[in-house]
Amino acid sequence: MLQLFFCQLVILAAQRYVRDHVTINDDGCWIATTSGDGRYRHFWFLGRRYKAHVLSWLAFCGPIARNQVIDHERCDNTQCCNPDHLRACTQSANMKRCFAAGRGRSTFITTGDSNG
Ligand SMILES: [Zn+2]
Repeated sequence: MLQLFFCQLVILAAQRYVRDHVTINDDGCWIATTSGDGRYRHFWFLGRRYKAHVLSWLAFCGPIARNQVIDHERCDNTQCCNPDHLRACTQSANMKRCFAAGRGRSTFITTGDSNG
């Protein structure tokens, strides 16, 4: 019970962190105001670095399955972390869609991080 309560606190803290570190543009995208690697913005939360959209998904939508990545399905803006614009899907489905959208590159493989 205490553990559940703690989880809820962490989730609320993460949601608050995300809201405090984004600006919303005309497309409704939540653009992270933090620094990043040029492709993705990063959020620091509880001593760990997350890709902004990944932390946003964890905060608002819940856990990500081991074989899933978070895809920018609605806006194709890699700096967006609006959970309404995101979708959890398998890596291969994500890559297929990205190649179709003309932004598929080997960065998916070379980042060494399973959540792209
Ligand atoms: Zn968006």
